[in-house]
Amino acid sequence: MPGNPTIAVIGIGSNLGHRHATIHAAVRDLARVPGVRVRRLSPIIETDPVGPPEQGPYLNAVVLVQPALEPRALLDAMLTIERSHGRDRAREQRWGPRTLDLDLLTFGDRIIDEPGLTVPHPRIAERAFVLRPLEFVAPRLPIFTPDGLRTVSSLARMLRPQ
Ligand code: ATP
Ligand code: CA
Ligand code: CA
Repeated sequence: MPGNPTIAVIGIGSNLGHRHATIHAAVRDLARVPGVRVRRLSPIIETDPVGPPEQGPYLNAVVLVQPALEPRALLDAMLTIERSHGRDRAREQRWGPRTLDLDLLTFGDRIIDEPGLTVPHPRIAERAFVLRPLEFVAPRLPIFTPDGLRTVSSLARMLRPQ
């Protein structure tokens, strides 16, 4: 009997331009990537920016996809989609404003630590803008933390109230 399909989680953020439209367009773009089936989009939440001051609030969401391609190919497709929505890393500061940010948060139970690709994304457990939308669609997903595996909902409970 086939096992459960691999599910990958992609974090989406936007704080420049038409943020809602960009997020929905990015999900459509992801669904068009050969080997990607979009399974669920979380609610879209508004969050305060993390990083340099004087940038507008973000809209954040997560999308669950069923991948039939390798993580590196998925990341490459994500980076292409970012560029097609005006993202230009050469002209931005770290954690500065951006039209679209797509992060590969998890890819099944794969652990990857290569140049340009770290999975699970190392900063999931500390980010409300990831955990809050993720809790809606994958509350029991285990996340690696320095203290071991924790579910999304247990990590979300430890966030400060907002
Ligand atoms: P953060 O990673 O803290 O969320 P960021 O999203 O602002 O920061 P970017 O400038 O978007 O960082 O990405 C920098 C590089 O990170 C990308 O070029 C990409 O190759 C690399 N990277 C490594 N692991 C991942 C991952 N899991 N998802 C997305 N990008 C990754
Ligand atoms: Ca990011
Ligand atoms: Ca990113």
